[in-house]
Amino acid sequence: MRNASIRVRLTIWYGGGLALIMIIFAGALYLVMSRALENQIDRSLDEAAVAAARSLEEHRFGPFLLLDDLAQAFPELALIDKFFQIFAPQGQVTLQSANIKTRDIPLSQTALESALQGRATFETVRFHDEIPIRLLSYPIRHGETLVNILRVGTSLSPMEEMLSRLVFFLLIGSPLAVAVSVLGGWFLASRALKPVDSITLAAQRITAEDLTQRIHTTAPDEIGRLASTLNDMIARLETSIRQIRQFSADASHELRTPLTITKGETELALRKPRSPDVYREVLESNLEEIDRMSRIVEELLFLSRADLGQVKVASLPVQLDTLVQEVQMQAMMLGKDRAVETILEHVEPLQVVGDEWRLRELILNLVDNAVKYSSRQGTVALSLTKTHDTAELAVKDDGIGIAPEEQPFIFDRFYRTDAARSHVQHGTGLGLSICKWIAESHHGTIEVTSTFGEGSCFTVSLPLLSPA
Ligand code: ADP
Repeated sequence: MRNASIRVRLTIWYGGGLALIMIIFAGALYLVMSRALENQIDRSLDEAAVAAARSLEEHRFGPFLLLDDLAQAFPELALIDKFFQIFAPQGQVTLQSANIKTRDIPLSQTALESALQGRATFETVRFHDEIPIRLLSYPIRHGETLVNILRVGTSLSPMEEMLSRLVFFLLIGSPLAVAVSVLGGWFLASRALKPVDSITLAAQRITAEDLTQRIHTTAPDEIGRLASTLNDMIARLETSIRQIRQFSADASHELRTPLTITKGETELALRKPRSPDVYREVLESNLEEIDRMSRIVEELLFLSRADLGQVKVASLPVQLDTLVQEVQMQAMMLGKDRAVETILEHVEPLQVVGDEWRLRELILNLVDNAVKYSSRQGTVALSLTKTHDTAELAVKDDGIGIAPEEQPFIFDRFYRTDAARSHVQHGTGLGLSICKWIAESHHGTIEVTSTFGEGSCFTVSLPLLSPA
């Protein structure tokens, strides 16, 4: 049953439930019917007894009437389905109707005793295999004295016949009704679950290799909602898998370039004997490429550990203005070659909660980029201001800028703008992804505003340390 399909289970539950209801219904119907028939018989016996008793009383209890006269006076007594007996108060039959053909039916002790006390008695008697008979023993009294006991009886055969017909009908009809409704239930369950089958088939077609497929259903019901939820899930999977593939392709590409350069230069140098200066030059160039590769690998490692939640971020008070000042000093060194100046604009003393080491890395990355993408003799300006309950750190440059259509992607892994590629060869395209992760892990945000060819401004917003 557990392994059975929903269709089978629904049908079994449905059929089982209906069979149970039918059994209860059939039992109740049989009981009600037999009671009603019994009551009807008892009522008609009672009416006949009352009429007969009245006739006997009218004739002052004797001499006893002939039954035919009685029948004439009260036509209902002549009904062939009833017979009459009149007993003396001691219990012997004194008169009985001709339609008692089969046997004598003596008065029972209980009926006699009840009659002596003035009560009528209903009894059902059955002789061996014969049809049962319903009897009413009715006392006829004169004052307190019991004069006669009138008995009216009738065969229960019509009732039994009716009940057995009912049983026959129920025995045939109920299983038939159950069978018809089980078939109906199976048909309905099949119809209701058909869309599930088509969803299953569609889902089987969707593999990691082909996530472009979607489940087609327009039904606005539960199945339709299930299908659209699955479609959303597949779309998210498709995006993630595409990103993973893109990421692997980008990572291999970024690592291949320095490897190709290193290999090419080394092969070229080894082709013929060279002076020590040439070898030195080649080795220095190789070292630069090796540095770049190890930076990529380190940054990749950091991002994968961050993805896995393995990078720990301290939660300590950090004096952000001090950090900004220290990074500005470092930046002066970075820009020295190309005479890029890094200045402090408005810097407010602000404290945030976080990891000083990571926050320094974040600011340094932004300042490093600003210097890197500045033109000669450019200026990088750092500012730290309070806006509501956040500290806003801005790193502004007057460098190459970022085209509006490229701005949404610069925080993606390995993304580098064309302008940046032609401006500086080195660069991994991973720095801003790391910056974004650090800002977000401090419950902050990072944004860019930029004009192509004029400069960019990166703004990091971090929640301020609330005063204790
Ligand atoms: P990269 O190592 O290439 O600098 P980042 O992840 O730090 O990688 O930056 C991603 C890209 O964003 C850069 O390649 C560049 O195109 C763009 N970018 C970042 N900072 C600036 C900036 N200050 N000015 C112009 N473009 C920038």
